[in-house]
Amino acid sequence: MEKGVVVLRYGHRPYRDQRVTTHCCLVARAFGASGIIIQGERDRMLTETIQKITKKWGGQFKVEFKKSWQKALKALKSRGYKAVHLTMYGKPVAREIKKIMKEKKIVVIIGSQKVEIGVYRESDYNIAIGKQPHSEIAALAVFLDRLFEGEELEKRFSNAKIVLTEKNEKG
Ligand code: SAM
Repeated sequence: MEKGVVVLRYGHRPYRDQRVTTHCCLVARAFGASGIIIQGERDRMLTETIQKITKKWGGQFKVEFKKSWQKALKALKSRGYKAVHLTMYGKPVAREIKKIMKEKKIVVIIGSQKVEIGVYRESDYNIAIGKQPHSEIAALAVFLDRLFEGEELEKRFSNAKIVLTEKNEKG
C-alpha cells in the first residue's frame, strides 16, 4: 500500500528562514512526501515558487501554513498519522526505521529554531540522523530516503512538463 507522508516544518521565521524552508519543500516533494505544513506566517511567494515547480516538474504537492503546530499535529493524529520528529537527540534512524516503515501515515517534523519540549513529547518517534548537529534539509532527505529505501528517486511525477531522461545525462 502507498505510504502517506507529510512534513511539518516547525517554527518557520519569515525572511530569515525563507530559503531554507523553500528547500525543505523541494526536498519533501522530490523525496516522496505529498505536502508540507509550515508553522508560521503565510508566505505567498514561497507557496508560488513551489506551485510553479510542481506545475513544471509534475505531481501533486500541497503547501499549507498553520499558526499552531499543536493544532496541525492534533488534526493529523486524528486522521491516523504517526509523528516522527527528526532531532539529533533522538534514537538512531538505523535502529528504528523498520518499525517506522510499518506505519501507513507519517508526519515528519523538522525544526528550525530551537524546538520546544512539547514536540518531543507529542511525537511517536524522536529520530536522530546521526548524533551531530546539521540541517533540517539534510535530515529530511536522509530520513525519507531510508523510509522509501531509495524508491522515491525512481518516482515518475504525473503531468510533468519537464522530464529528465537518459538523453539529458552528461558525461
Ligand atoms: N538542536 C537541534 C536538534 O535538535 O537536532 C539542531 C538544530 S538544526 C539548526 C534544525 C533542525 O535540523 C532540527 O530541529 C532537526 O529537525 C534537524 N536536525 C539537525 N541535526 C539533526 C540530526 N543530527 N538528526 C536529526 N535531525 C537533525
